Amino acid sequence: MSADKNGNLGPDRESKTDFLTCTVDQFEDLVGKAAVDRILQKAEVFKGARIAHVNSSLYGGGVAEILDSLTLLMSSAGLRAEWKVIQGDPDYFSITKKMHNALQGDEINLSKLKKTIYEGVIRKNSLRTDLENFDMVFIHDPQPLPLVEHFQKKCPWIWRCHLDLSSPNREVWEYLRPFIDRYNAVIISGEDYRQELTVPQLVFYPAINPFSIKNREMSEEEVEERLEHYEIPTDLPIVCQISRFDHWKDPAGVIQAFRIARKKVDATLVLLGNFAADDPEGETLYRSLLDQREDRIVIMSKDDTALVNALQRASAVVLQKSIREGFGLTVAEAMFKGTPVIGGDVGGIRYQIHDGENGFLVSSVEETADCIVRILKDGDLRRKMGEKAAWTVRERFLMTRLL
Ligand code: UDP
Repeated sequence: MSADKNGNLGPDRESKTDFLTCTVDQFEDLVGKAAVDRILQKAEVFKGARIAHVNSSLYGGGVAEILDSLTLLMSSAGLRAEWKVIQGDPDYFSITKKMHNALQGDEINLSKLKKTIYEGVIRKNSLRTDLENFDMVFIHDPQPLPLVEHFQKKCPWIWRCHLDLSSPNREVWEYLRPFIDRYNAVIISGEDYRQELTVPQLVFYPAINPFSIKNREMSEEEVEERLEHYEIPTDLPIVCQISRFDHWKDPAGVIQAFRIARKKVDATLVLLGNFAADDPEGETLYRSLLDQREDRIVIMSKDDTALVNALQRASAVVLQKSIREGFGLTVAEAMFKGTPVIGGDVGGIRYQIHDGENGFLVSSVEETADCIVRILKDGDLRRKMGEKAAWTVRERFLMTRLL
């Protein structure tokens, strides 16, 4: 069975695409019956196993996006998956965001007070979080990392790092390393992120849930309705970037590139973004961009998942002009919908885009502008790249593979 340009599977599949759940069976048409059977058979061994996932944000950003579906998928395969979110105050989240930035290469002033607050908040969380009676514990990203110190490890504890670790700041790495070394294994999102550690490091690419509200099929009418609702003009081709407002996503570079491209092609830029509960920097960055709004540059922050879906489908091209990117779910999401992506030539974007084949990889504002012009002028190229992009995701980045 084949999918059309939008990844739509046809009306006969409607009943299997319940976007409020995520079950292994649902994937049969996308990955084949043999794969579904193999997964369920492998999962037999783990029936009833209690799996804990711990992160620091229930909403916003790729980790929450993955856990929302992955925990359901695990449950459908017979595992007992739980998702726990640690609590912290603004001081704590300001420190962990600085650590996040430093792990991706920024400078940091790692004072004694910052370490005390960071470790203290995790100690408090350990007192009110049950992680004793599990068969496997996954701790996601640096925020809850020190939890491992506070429990007798009766099962494997895995640190799952979603960040771009290609050039971490040494000071923050040396500080965090003793915590990391207490884990049984580390999972990273790409080969380039390997570090010197005593524990094994495994590479798992993240993945998307094709049946969620964000990725499910949408009719043209539904897409139009969403865009109309927010008064997003559709008279010209749309170029968009959808990302948390974060300097690593380079929204300013996106606007610059669009301005250059517009001298040669007419289009509308939509910069849609949101904020994650564990990222205190987003709001300030968003406000700093608002001055740049104009007729054909729409900058908006709306928590509307169907709008993300509609925009990724309606756009002629999606940008993800990151300068560091652990993986970049937004890339896979757009590609899955048959929309070509121009992505920063960094981190996890490189695992998804093969330059010139299923999208473009870029390293500067000028290159981004050139690619926007090229892709907007060439409908045939757009269609071919989009088709390849959709297949790349179907073959490599669906949630069943991650399970
Ligand atoms: N996202 C969203 N609304 C927005 C911006 C982003 O729902 O306005 C979602 C996006 O669709 C993706 C996730 O947030 O599912 C971001 O994950 P990604 O891996 O791209 O980046 P991260 O935020 O984890 O760095």
